[in-house]
Amino acid sequence: MIRLCKIFSILIIVLCLFSGCVQVGSADDSPHIRNFFAMDTYMTVTAYGENGKAAVQAAEDRVYELDALLNAESRDSEIYSLNENGTATLSDDTASVLKSALYCCELTDGAFNPAMHPVMRLWGFTSGKYNVPSNESIKEALKLTKPSKISLKENKATINLKGTEIDLGGIAKGYTSSEIMQIFKYNKVKSGIVNLGGNVQTVGLKPDGSDWSVAIDNPDSDGSYLGVLKTHDKAVITSGGYERNFKKNGMTYHHIIDPTTGYPAENGLVSATVVAEDGALADALSTALFVMGEKKSENFWRNNKENFDFILYTEQRKIIASDGIKDSFKTELEMKVIS
Ligand code: ADP
Ligand code: MG
Repeated sequence: MIRLCKIFSILIIVLCLFSGCVQVGSADDSPHIRNFFAMDTYMTVTAYGENGKAAVQAAEDRVYELDALLNAESRDSEIYSLNENGTATLSDDTASVLKSALYCCELTDGAFNPAMHPVMRLWGFTSGKYNVPSNESIKEALKLTKPSKISLKENKATINLKGTEIDLGGIAKGYTSSEIMQIFKYNKVKSGIVNLGGNVQTVGLKPDGSDWSVAIDNPDSDGSYLGVLKTHDKAVITSGGYERNFKKNGMTYHHIIDPTTGYPAENGLVSATVVAEDGALADALSTALFVMGEKKSENFWRNNKENFDFILYTEQRKIIASDGIKDSFKTELEMKVIS
């Protein structure tokens, strides 16, 4: 699967080179678009206006730069080296993502856990060689998933338990989309949107002055969506077991692990979407809400409602949305609003 994705990525990049993915226009509201494959997913970055071309190029370069630092599977990355050696002096980027990850872990009472790498490996999600581990091996691996054993002082990170390993896959794309927003602002782009494998973030309004429309995927049928959110200057990030999984003996096993069990989280949700200003927070929280399930997510939101809003899609095929976005989210499905 990973090999296939790599082949596709190369194809896409080659196609882009020849077809001129970057649209060049002189009118102030023309879009500049780049499509590419990175962080194991397809990405599109779009910026409008005269500085858009430079901005999307800088954005793409920044994605490769962050991918090279944060990918736990790549031998050259800072995270790989930290996991291998138990200690490392990190770049500001890696330190910043790790800091956010540890903060989100504490905030969500461990539902978001950046130390799940040993369990991810056991299931084969790190290599693509999928496998259902034994209960015993999961129990053993869970003893290593201890974020309390990770310390970060300024840029110096230390792992104080042998075998504990960091996995930033649940937060890296959100951090990256926020960084692209900074690049857009630095380049004086007033209107831009990125889609990093379903993680969307926007800067400003559309060139015509209206809100962006962000469609939330319907995992039940390709190409359809649960509803459309009108938004600006926000990240809209969805997590769901449908995004990456494998089948064995009639069962489906997905890539979001419940840190309390070591098994794929099954807490009544098909997907969890988080809307927030900060992409890293939105990404980590979408993973965390998916793990928490409906009731815990609602209570968690009540205690943190100034920082984010959410849209949950339950196994009963109902939508549950928080009060802050009820008027901006349009859906044909039954929707319960939480306040
Ligand atoms: P995606 O990356 O597919 O958009 P998520 O943002 O939900 O989806 O991240 C899932 C990734 O996060 C997994 O591939 C794994 O690297 C990591 N992960 C899995 N379970 C957890 C968890 N409970 N807490 C934090 N990270 C996790
Ligand atoms: Mg996430």
